[in-house]
Amino acid sequence: MPPKLDYPELTIARRSWRYTPDGGCLANKVILVTGAGDGIGRAAAKTFAVFGAHVVLLGKTRSKLEAVFDWIAGNTETKPVIVPCDLLGMDESSANGLRDAIDQDYGRLDGVLHNASLLGPKVPIEHYPPEHWQNAMQVNAYAPFLLTHTLLPLMQAGEGASIIMTSSTVGRQGRAYWGAYAVSKFALEGLMQVLADELENAGRVRVNSLNPGGTRTAMRREAYPSEDPQMLPLPESHMDLYLYLMSDASIGITGQAFDARTWQYSTQP
Ligand code: NAP
Repeated sequence: MPPKLDYPELTIARRSWRYTPDGGCLANKVILVTGAGDGIGRAAAKTFAVFGAHVVLLGKTRSKLEAVFDWIAGNTETKPVIVPCDLLGMDESSANGLRDAIDQDYGRLDGVLHNASLLGPKVPIEHYPPEHWQNAMQVNAYAPFLLTHTLLPLMQAGEGASIIMTSSTVGRQGRAYWGAYAVSKFALEGLMQVLADELENAGRVRVNSLNPGGTRTAMRREAYPSEDPQMLPLPESHMDLYLYLMSDASIGITGQAFDARTWQYSTQP
C-alpha cells in the first residue's frame, strides 16, 4: 500500500529507490531522530512520519525543528514532538530527562537514528585545535553513546527496536585532514559493533551503521565548497535504506555496516 502522502523531493527520489517499503511499515512506531531540523535528518524525520512513525525531533535550532514539526503535523496523522537540544551540552541529567519525557509521551521507543553531527576543522592533527576536537567527539560520539546508554531500557521493553549510527566513508578508512570528524565516526562504528555483539542473544534491539555517502546538504557544502551540489543525490534518495533499517523488514539484521551508495536490497540476510 503506498503512503498517504509524499512531498516533492520524496516523490522524485522514490522513482530510483531499490526497495519498495510498505506504506504502513512504520505505523505507530516511536522514533527519535537527532539533527532532525536539516539535511538528512530532516528528510528522515519527514519520511518516517509519512510512513506512519511518531517522530521525536531533536536538534539544535528550534525554528528548524518547528518547521519540520509543522509539516508533519499538517500532513500526516502522526504525533511528533520537538526537543530543542544542543548535544554539545548533553549530560546524564539531560539524557535522563529526555528518556522520561519519551516514556511519559509515548510509553515506548522503537528506533533511534543517531544523525546529528558536526564537521569541525579540516586540518592536520598537528594543528588541530584541541577544543574543536573535544566538541566534535562530544556531539558525534559521546552524545550517541549517552543517548543509547540511557534509552536502551526503553527500547528493550518493546517488541523490537532499531538503532542506526550515521557513519561516513572517513569513519571506515582514515583520511588526512578529516581529524576528529573521522575519528568520531570510527568510534560510532565501534559502538555499533560492541553493542550489537552484546545484544545479539537478547534479540530485541538491532544496531547497524549507515554511511549515506556524498549527499546534497549544508555539511557537504561546508566540506566541499567548490563542488556542484546538483551532482549529488538528495537526502531522500537514501530513504529506502533508512526505512528498511527502521522497519520490521530488517529484524534479525544487526552489527552490519551499510553504505547507501552501494546497497542493494536482498531478501537474503
Ligand atoms: P547537516 O545538513 O549539516 O545537518 C546536521 C544536523 O545536525 C542539523 O540538523 C544540525 O542542527 C544538527 N546538529 C549539529 N550539531 C548539533 C548539536 N550540537 N546539537 C544538536 N544538533 C546538532 O548534515 P547532513 O549532511 O545532513 O549530515 C547528517 C549525517 O550524515 C551526519 O552524521 C553526517 O556526518 C553524515 N554524513 C553526511 C554526508 C553528506 O554528504 N551530507 C556524508 C557522509 C556522512 P542545526 O541545523 O540546528 O545546526
